[in-house]
Amino acid sequence: TDSIQENVSRTDVSEPAKAPAELIAREAARRRTFGIISHPDAGKTTLTEKLLLFSGAIQLAGTVKARKSGRHATSDWMEIEKQRGISVASSVMQFEYRDHVVNLLDTPGHQDFSEDTYRVLTAVDSALMVIDAAKGVEEQTIKLLNVCRMRDTPILTFMNKMDRETRDPLELLDEVESVLKIECAPVTWPIGMGKAFRGVYHLLRDEILLFTAGGERADQEFEVIKGIDNPRLVEMFPLEIEQLKMEVELVHGASHAFDLEAFLAGRQTPVFFGSAINNFGVREILNALLEWAPAPRSRDATVRSVQPTETPFSGFVFKIQANMDPAHRDRIAFLRVCSGRFERGMKIKHLRLNREIKVSSVVTFMASSREQVEEAYAGDIIGLPNHGNMQIGDSFSEGEMLQFTGIPFFAPDFFRVVRIRNPLKIKQLHKGLQQLGEEGAVQVFKPVHSGDMILGAVGVLQFEVVASRLMNEYGVDAVFEGTSISSARWISCDDKRVLADFERSSAGQNIAYDAAGNMAYLATSGVNLKLTQERWPKLTFHTTREHA
Ligand code: GDP
Repeated sequence: TDSIQENVSRTDVSEPAKAPAELIAREAARRRTFGIISHPDAGKTTLTEKLLLFSGAIQLAGTVKARKSGRHATSDWMEIEKQRGISVASSVMQFEYRDHVVNLLDTPGHQDFSEDTYRVLTAVDSALMVIDAAKGVEEQTIKLLNVCRMRDTPILTFMNKMDRETRDPLELLDEVESVLKIECAPVTWPIGMGKAFRGVYHLLRDEILLFTAGGERADQEFEVIKGIDNPRLVEMFPLEIEQLKMEVELVHGASHAFDLEAFLAGRQTPVFFGSAINNFGVREILNALLEWAPAPRSRDATVRSVQPTETPFSGFVFKIQANMDPAHRDRIAFLRVCSGRFERGMKIKHLRLNREIKVSSVVTFMASSREQVEEAYAGDIIGLPNHGNMQIGDSFSEGEMLQFTGIPFFAPDFFRVVRIRNPLKIKQLHKGLQQLGEEGAVQVFKPVHSGDMILGAVGVLQFEVVASRLMNEYGVDAVFEGTSISSARWISCDDKRVLADFERSSAGQNIAYDAAGNMAYLATSGVNLKLTQERWPKLTFHTTREHA
């Protein structure tokens, strides 16, 4: 078509117009879509900002930070979002670096931690694990890494805050290996720490990168000294260099050499040391992301696997964000492109509803305010306006019936019982919860032995969002009360008789059904769950459930 021709000539003036298939393959190959997994305060925001600085997407440090603190939140988002400083704009950050297009998907942490945080990880091709080197592996990092493991997502590791007193680097690697069950391959090695942090030694390039504090600018260059045996080093740091040589010998002997294949299979993580706030070691991470992390790969759908280079467009919704503007009840559905090329104004098929939609207004995500992007390729994220009929896991294509898999619901960690102030609103409450449950904003369980409605969430902010949406969108004033439930597992079993016995047993008191009608067991404690699992060995207790 005309627009493709036009686009080819715009991006590649000197060469004759390329066939769309070639263009699509080339665009997919230069994309890197990743998310950051970390525990709050490890340095995710700081690192994000430095990555954007490098790419030239932002000019000044402090921009992302200000957004996080909410000072730059735009005025028309829902009140709760304003308070928290969450914005659609920072959900996906796209920038170009060294002829690559990088999509950085935000993984909300702190109070904003929610099921979305997990689900974002189903839409990335790799992840960057940021660890506070003074603290080591922390709880949220473990949870997020387990989600990455479901798809064997390749993981890069950044040991942050080396300008502080940290734990022993070898001990840190040990902890990652034993707690997270992933091999470590150090790529850079720190020279000292805290006030005595001198820089890092690049084990593969045999180069020393000298540390200097600061780094608020993108063009910060750190001095490089070639060769660990360089006499200059002995002059500069006679003490540290002896120590480094010993450690490097130890590291070569005791840890794994970088193996691209093992990394791509999610079995090994290359480890970099640095200091995000000083912009130190960030470029190495970005280069590794471009050179080693995978471009979009094939995605499994129910009927077949889909290649990113296929020319027909396809993608799936992994997140729905409610609007925010009370005057417009729209929600934005975040769609990850899996194949082909998306163009503004094209017709795509919403497969679950078997309905064609023309997408004329679409949100695209750029970290800078450059020209509006009119097209997207595999790995990119686009925001579709959604009037309430899109759900998490929905697939879109140019017509082929493809239902992408691997976009699960996750067993909640927090539970509330819903009560309404006005009993006459019970119908609206049910309708609202049904829709919010289908959309993926919260999970709704109906216990078989009571008339209660139980809400389940991965982070407590989800309850606030749901309360606010019930009020604004359904006119329901609901209050949420605590429950004795501590965890939930979806139940499956091939033997119908065992299931029936289970329902009749005393454990059956704890059975509930979710919004999609799946059976779940709501446990009152870890011990209760464990005992039930032991007593019912023929049942499978799932921590995730696939989109229906
Ligand atoms: P997030 O919660 O993971 O997004 O973490 P932030 O990026 O907000 O960082 C948490 C705190 O650690 C902030 O006070 C940062 O200034 C600080 N921080 C981040 N990187 C470094 C670093 O390399 N060295 C030191 N000393 N502090 C850092």
